[in-house]
Amino acid sequence: MAAKCSFPAKPFHVSTPSSIHIRERVGWFALKAKPAHLRLSNGFKARAGLNARLNEIEIPRQWYNLIADLSVKPPPPLHPKTFEPVKPEDLSPLFPYELIKQEATNDKFIDIPPEVLDIYSLWRPTPLIRAKRLEKVLNTPARIYYKYEGVSPAGSHKPNTAVPQVFYNAQEGVKNVVTETGAGQWGSSLAFACSLFDLGCEVWQVRASYDQKPYRRLMMETWGAKVHPSPSNITEAGSKILQMDPSSPGSLGIAISEAVEIAAANSDTKYCLGSVLNHVLMHQTVIGEECLRQMEAIGETPDVIIGCTGGGSNFAGLSFPFIREKLNGKISPLIRAVEPAACPSLTKGVYAYDYGDTAGMTPLMKMHTLGHDFIPDPIHAGGLRYHGMAPLISHVYELGFMEAIAIPQTECFQGAIQFARSEGLIPAPEPTHAIAATIREALHCRETGEEKVILMAMCGHGHFDLASYENFLHGKMIDLSFEEQKVQASLAKVPQVMT
Ligand SMILES: *Cc1c(COP(=O)(O)O)cnc(C)c1O
Repeated sequence: MAAKCSFPAKPFHVSTPSSIHIRERVGWFALKAKPAHLRLSNGFKARAGLNARLNEIEIPRQWYNLIADLSVKPPPPLHPKTFEPVKPEDLSPLFPYELIKQEATNDKFIDIPPEVLDIYSLWRPTPLIRAKRLEKVLNTPARIYYKYEGVSPAGSHKPNTAVPQVFYNAQEGVKNVVTETGAGQWGSSLAFACSLFDLGCEVWQVRASYDQKPYRRLMMETWGAKVHPSPSNITEAGSKILQMDPSSPGSLGIAISEAVEIAAANSDTKYCLGSVLNHVLMHQTVIGEECLRQMEAIGETPDVIIGCTGGGSNFAGLSFPFIREKLNGKISPLIRAVEPAACPSLTKGVYAYDYGDTAGMTPLMKMHTLGHDFIPDPIHAGGLRYHGMAPLISHVYELGFMEAIAIPQTECFQGAIQFARSEGLIPAPEPTHAIAATIREALHCRETGEEKVILMAMCGHGHFDLASYENFLHGKMIDLSFEEQKVQASLAKVPQVMT
């Protein structure tokens, strides 16, 4: 076990004590409704509407750990060589002590450190918005709300976990962190967090995305990170892939192998993962805790909660606190995950122990998987390309607490265009899946006349993903038929683990 070290010499960029900072903050909107109405010289009076009420919500002070409330616990991760349950010391070359502890904890709530709250307050609380104009376009009696995480500096929910991960690494004296990134959202979030705590940051970006998305790379570089295309010749894992296929487009699984290899070989360097793991899902529950309070403040109760799933973190972040209330018998929403038809781990994968990466260096996790060397077709534009699903989401799905559907990408982008032309925001390719499923549900309500309350996770904006929009708008986007053969070949390589 890595010894708990003292704080690094450089001070944190903490400007004010967080409690003061947070109480004074009014949130995303510029006008504060209380205590006095702002009187402008033109006679305009700021009115306390829906959004003003939502701004009086404080940032939650604790993350929520769903595992504490499950009577059947998820199966443990296994060592990749011995197939024995992983011990904390097996993970210490990769993660700081506090995160290893959080990964395995049964505590129901974990306090968010003041330093992290202070940074959260740069963009939190995030807005909960009623999509009235979309409702009108769809002519639906349903009420649609979306929780928008695109207001963070990196443009998605990912900084919610990047900031605490970097904070704990800094606290334990780590000097550098390494990671993989696909679309670039996670790499830029980690680069942002490292810039706040003065840590070095190196990112292996999936080759296809490195070539197609120069602006995400430039964001990472602006925040001070070093970016390599993956597969790279820097690592053994990457060199092996390049020997077999010099023009490999790369995959998240390959990029994870590369970053893990570097972290394992350097004592001052740790690895960060942007999704899938328990502690990541837990950090994201700040979204759902905040949203519970926001819905309460406006007197609404969701009937359906919809989110997209890649590794599962934004979906878990919004839905887990609502699942807790459901387990307590307070509410009874349907909880629906939406995945791409081109990478359908929950709906078409097997529930089995599999590696988190392509080279088989990570622990084996019991999860819904398409096989650790599954590579989705590069023409799939919608993100959400990871071969597996978070073990905790997979477990919750097996327990029957949620459902899952897969939607093809052209329907997702049709939904995104409808959303952009009514609500204004241009969604990232990933939440277009949630939007398409929300539109399906709202149209169903139009048929039945039900006035359902639909709550959707709108986890990021698409300002750096406009190439996907170009494909769609110019008729160049096609739906891939699900590649049954490719998946069968990849599933054949899932290790046989007796449990
Ligand atoms: C990374 C990312 C996802 C997929 O990851 P999850 O862990 O499933 O949330 C979805 N949407 C956006 C905007 C992302 O950046």
